[in-house]
Amino acid sequence: MAYDVDPGVAAALAAFRPPERLGFGQVAAPVMYDVHYADGAWGRGRLLPYGPIEILPGARALQYAELVFEGLKAYRVGQPWPNLFRPADNCARLARSAERLAMPPVPEALFLEALDAVAGALAPFVPDRSGQALYLRPFLFGTESGYLLRNSTTFRFMVIANPVEAYASGAIRVAIERHDVRAAPGGVGHAKAAANYAPSLRASSAALARGCTIALWLDAHEHRYLQELSGMNLFAVVDGELLTPTLDGAILPGITRDSLIRLARHRGHAVHERAIELGALLGQIASGACSELFACGTAAIVAPIAALVEADGREHVPRVVDGVAAELREALLAIQERRAPDPFGWTRDVARPAPAG
Ligand SMILES: *Cc1c(COP(=O)(O)O)cnc(C)c1O
Repeated sequence: MAYDVDPGVAAALAAFRPPERLGFGQVAAPVMYDVHYADGAWGRGRLLPYGPIEILPGARALQYAELVFEGLKAYRVGQPWPNLFRPADNCARLARSAERLAMPPVPEALFLEALDAVAGALAPFVPDRSGQALYLRPFLFGTESGYLLRNSTTFRFMVIANPVEAYASGAIRVAIERHDVRAAPGGVGHAKAAANYAPSLRASSAALARGCTIALWLDAHEHRYLQELSGMNLFAVVDGELLTPTLDGAILPGITRDSLIRLARHRGHAVHERAIELGALLGQIASGACSELFACGTAAIVAPIAALVEADGREHVPRVVDGVAAELREALLAIQERRAPDPFGWTRDVARPAPAG
C-alpha cells in the first residue's frame, strides 16, 4: 500500500450507520483520503476518518477560489465489490482543470490510489439498489496563505464520498436564467472549478424558489445560445435527432455527455453538436418539432425536463417527457451498474486493498 491508514479508520467504519434516506450529498461517508504537495512533489497519502480539516484562513483556496474538483460514482448493483465508471477520464479532466488554473496535476496513479482507498474501504456501504451509488468527490486546492497574485506553491488533494440517490428523481423543471452569466469563453467554464459555482448560486437559489431544480445558462455575449445547466449538460430531441450545444470553452465537457453521444450513436440515433439558439428552440417546443429535453451528469444520470420556466412563471413544455431520455438512461445505467455488456470498456473494478502486514 502506498498510503497510510489512520488508526481511527476502523472505528469510523464500524460506527457508520447510513440512514434510509440518502439524498444527494447529505450523508457523508466515514472516511476520506488526503495528500499534500510541497517543494514540487506529492507526499504520501493517508486514509483518515471523515472530519474537519485545518486550513489557514489566508489560504488561496479560500481567498481566491484556487480549487478544482471532480465527481464520479462507485456502483455495486448485484455484485459484492464496487466498480468505477471512466475514472481515467475524470483524472484527465482534473489535470486539464488544474492546468487552466496553473495548479500541479494529480498523477493518474495517485488519483486512482485515492479512489481505490476510499471506495475500497467503503465497499460494504456502496448502496446496491439501481440508481444509488457512492458519489466520490476528488478535489485539489491551494493551501498557501497570502494575497500576492500568483499561484500557491503548496496544495492538497483530497477525496471525500457520499452514499447517494440520483440528484433528482423524476422530471425536473428548469429555470431559464436570462440575466446572470455563469461562464465566458477564456474564463474557467470548461474547467471543473469551484469558481464557476459561486456566480451561479444566486440563480440556483432563485430557481429553487420558483419551484425549479436548476438554472439554464445562456452564452455570456448575447444571452442567446444555450450553454448548460448549473451542474448538468443538456440535450434536445429535434425532428427525431439529438442535439447538444457545442463545447465552446465555457461549457463543462461532461463525461456523461460524451458517454451519451457515443452510446446514442451506437444505438442508431443521429447526434449533432451545434450552437442552439434559445428563441429558435422555444419556437420548436411550441410547434412540437422539439419533442423532448433532458439533462445529464454524473449526479443526475439522465434527467428528463418537464418544463423550461421563465422568471415571470411562463412555461415552455415539451410534448414528450422521458422518451429518448428513458431509453438512454436505462442503457447507460445498465453499463455503469454492469447489468449489460460494456462495449466501450468504460467500467473498472475498484482495486482490492492489499492484505495487511
Ligand atoms: C460536473 C459538471 C457537469 C457534468 O459532468 P459529468 O462528467 O457528466 O458528471 C456538467 N456541468 C457542470 C458545470 C459540471 O460541473
